[in-house]
Amino acid sequence: MDISSLRGVGAKTMTYLNELGINTIDDLISYYPFRFNVIKKSDSKEIRSGNEITLVGVVESEPTLFKYGKTKDRMTFRLVSDDNIFNITIFNRGFLKKGIYIGKKITVIGKYDLKNSSIIASDIKLFDIGNKEYIEPIYHSSANISSKQISKIISAALKTGIKIDDKLPLYIKNKYNLTNRSVAVSEVHNPTSLRTLNPAINYLKYEELFLFLEKINILKEKNKKLIGNDRDVPKKEVLEFVSSLPFALTDDQKKVVYEIYEDMISKKVMNRLLQGDVGSGKTIVAFISLFINFKSKYQGALMAPTDVLARQHYNNIKNIFKNYNVNIELLTGKMSNKEKNLIKEKLENGEIDIIVGTHALFSKDVAYKKLGLVITDEQHRFGVRQRANLRKKGKNPDVLYMSATPIPRTFALTLYGDMDVSSIKQKPQDRKEVETFVKNSNQIKDVLSKMLNELSNKHQIYVVVPLIEESAKSDMKNVYEISENIKKAFKNKFKLGLLHGKMTSLEKEKVMEDFYKNNIQILVSTTVIEVGLDNKNATVMVVFDSDRFGLSTLHQLRGRVGRSHLKSYFFMICDEDKERLEVLTQTNDGFLISEYDFNERGSGDLFGVRQSGDVEFKIANIKRDLKLLQRVDVDVKEYFENV
Ligand code: ADP
Ligand code: MG
Repeated sequence: MDISSLRGVGAKTMTYLNELGINTIDDLISYYPFRFNVIKKSDSKEIRSGNEITLVGVVESEPTLFKYGKTKDRMTFRLVSDDNIFNITIFNRGFLKKGIYIGKKITVIGKYDLKNSSIIASDIKLFDIGNKEYIEPIYHSSANISSKQISKIISAALKTGIKIDDKLPLYIKNKYNLTNRSVAVSEVHNPTSLRTLNPAINYLKYEELFLFLEKINILKEKNKKLIGNDRDVPKKEVLEFVSSLPFALTDDQKKVVYEIYEDMISKKVMNRLLQGDVGSGKTIVAFISLFINFKSKYQGALMAPTDVLARQHYNNIKNIFKNYNVNIELLTGKMSNKEKNLIKEKLENGEIDIIVGTHALFSKDVAYKKLGLVITDEQHRFGVRQRANLRKKGKNPDVLYMSATPIPRTFALTLYGDMDVSSIKQKPQDRKEVETFVKNSNQIKDVLSKMLNELSNKHQIYVVVPLIEESAKSDMKNVYEISENIKKAFKNKFKLGLLHGKMTSLEKEKVMEDFYKNNIQILVSTTVIEVGLDNKNATVMVVFDSDRFGLSTLHQLRGRVGRSHLKSYFFMICDEDKERLEVLTQTNDGFLISEYDFNERGSGDLFGVRQSGDVEFKIANIKRDLKLLQRVDVDVKEYFENV
């Protein structure tokens, strides 16, 4: 069945649903509520001034509607409940007026004021919720489609009697006394009571985690059986290449290079996650892997999440390979079609040895002659499917995923159970700890004076201004304002560049280049493009409104400075939530910080582990449901042993 055949779902609604990632009936019924509103009639004891109360009553007067502003309105009417009369006021719900008429029984939720016997309502239900709890599912919605509309559409779908089959093995269901999938699905979308809702949620969580881990295990088994590429690269050649690098590898880098070399040389296919804190030097490991691959005469691909980062890698890699006869090219979505077509042709006929790019590398019309190694940088920024696509471009290519978002070990073991994991723990020796401060906005003078000091020493500075939405005009204004203020503060003695997501890649490239060449001393940027940037001469980063970020994100940002022997400074400016950010002043260990983030924070990280394509569950929450995750992990392993 098609969603569009449901009553009330026209072409427009369909696009709104698509925007939420809902394309099929299956998507629709597994679009679970993210929370539930539980409403219950207030006890007479609870009806006290100042309390939020819920009343069922009969409308006693025709409502009056008063409109003001462009879109605002206020509605008032009287309600009789238990022989008491209440004056009800509600804002911006004028559309409810035709459902509110004398004699109608409704439910009002709002704040009670004894003196005026009035209620400022936050919500009104045009029916009697009855005596037991009334549970309303709340869905992630959009500006185009409300939670209520989504709820209606899902209910309509469920009413058609579509078949909902169980997905869990029977013995597992029996073991935990789990309900049926069909019961669980209909209960979460139309909850009847808390007593029945909870088992339904438990079922769906279990199911989601089970299916996920089942997939991981299938992948793992499959990987084991694959025969990898034939490679014959003497260790000596690799060591020679390593000694040609501008610096000596750290012990951890050496260890990881060795693990990768062994993987690539062996008969099996490499499927490895390289975890390393920001600044630990993963890139060079990627380059060495590309060297091994090139020496065994395969094409290699390095995929980065942003244009800017891809270009940076491209430039670096060309530099590192300059004494070798290697054909290296760049491919990003923002290049012209003509440029792209040329590159595609060369990839297909094998003229290109190493290609660096964004996910454009793996779009449908790109084919490789002999792809032997695929590396994704900042792998958590790509979804599982994107990564699978890239694998398919070659015949069992080796794969290396690099991630700087350290995931606590407990999660990593389960979520990346199909991969081998390498870690780089130590930083290059010459590094000094980045000195970290949390400052109020009225302490900006201290920050400016430090900035001036560093600028005078010919060092450079990042300023980060977070945007909630790249399109929000007010936010952009904020970016420009801050830039102007900084310029003025330094009497225009230093050059300032601006980097944000709305710029074309050419503009970005220009700014980046100017920053690398020190034509620009201060780079003001939004965080969209922050990952991976590498300017060793930058020694200060200032993050405005830093309370908007999760700790891991801030730690990532901090990793942009302190990339050489130079002493560096990291300032977080905010007036709220300072205590949380203090953690960063105490530790520089990304793993610890991510554990902390996981344990302490609810939601609201703008960029971090939560955006990870891997850990996006529909109903389970890896943080809250860690125990369940671990139990399911055991069950899945047992299940695989028995089939
Ligand atoms: P990340 O792991 O965050 O991707 P990078 O690979 O960008 O880190 O490395 C950070 C910086 O450290 C780069 O400027 C890189 O050239 C430098 N670097 C990497 N390894 C070493 C090393 N062994 N000694 C000195 N500098 C290094
Ligand atoms: Mg990196």
